[in-house]
Amino acid sequence: MISAPTLAMCPADQGLEVAFAGRSNAGKSSAINTLTQQKALARTSKTPGRTQLINFFAFGDDESRRLVDLPGYGFAKVPEKVKLEWQRHLAEYLQRRASLQGLVLVMDVRHPLSEFDEMMLGWADDKDMAVHILLTKADKLKPGAAKNSLLQVRKRLQEWEDLVSVQLFSALKRQGVEEAQARLDDWLSPQEN
Ligand code: GDP
Repeated sequence: MISAPTLAMCPADQGLEVAFAGRSNAGKSSAINTLTQQKALARTSKTPGRTQLINFFAFGDDESRRLVDLPGYGFAKVPEKVKLEWQRHLAEYLQRRASLQGLVLVMDVRHPLSEFDEMMLGWADDKDMAVHILLTKADKLKPGAAKNSLLQVRKRLQEWEDLVSVQLFSALKRQGVEEAQARLDDWLSPQEN
């Protein structure tokens, strides 16, 4: 749909949307492409110069349901000033966006709960926003080790278990796809009342 550099330039705040975040190289683009069964939907966000934009994709036939690809951070390469500016835009988006139903936080199963992840969880907590964590690249670990990582992350976030759910995922092996899709469907279905 559109790539927006600031909250002011995002599409009208109507309908329902789910945002994806993850530090760069966590596997966010692969997860978005796998979950939407598209080969290169999220590739646009990797084009140089676009990496710091908030990218909106229509989910389904109209633009009232959206997936939002939030900029990942290649923290090391970004000057401090740019980093702070981006933290401000991200925080603003997460805190003010009324159509935002939930956040999918993508983490490499081998390196979960990075500084970036903790920052995102802090903002979600401030807003009482639901978060679904994908521990991706699960195929890189033996099943026992992957399970162990899952249990450890769940334990660390136990305090927020009403708002935070965690699962194993692999874009490569298509592991956990149905579980993640069910969560997206749930967030993007209009509530009956
Ligand atoms: P992003 O920067 O978070 O969007 O990460 P990408 O989706 O581009 O993935 C970063 C790297 O990890 C790429 O080389 C992917 O091929 C690889 N990758 C992503 N998901 C998986 C996965 O589930 N399993 C494995 N083995 N590799 C993955």
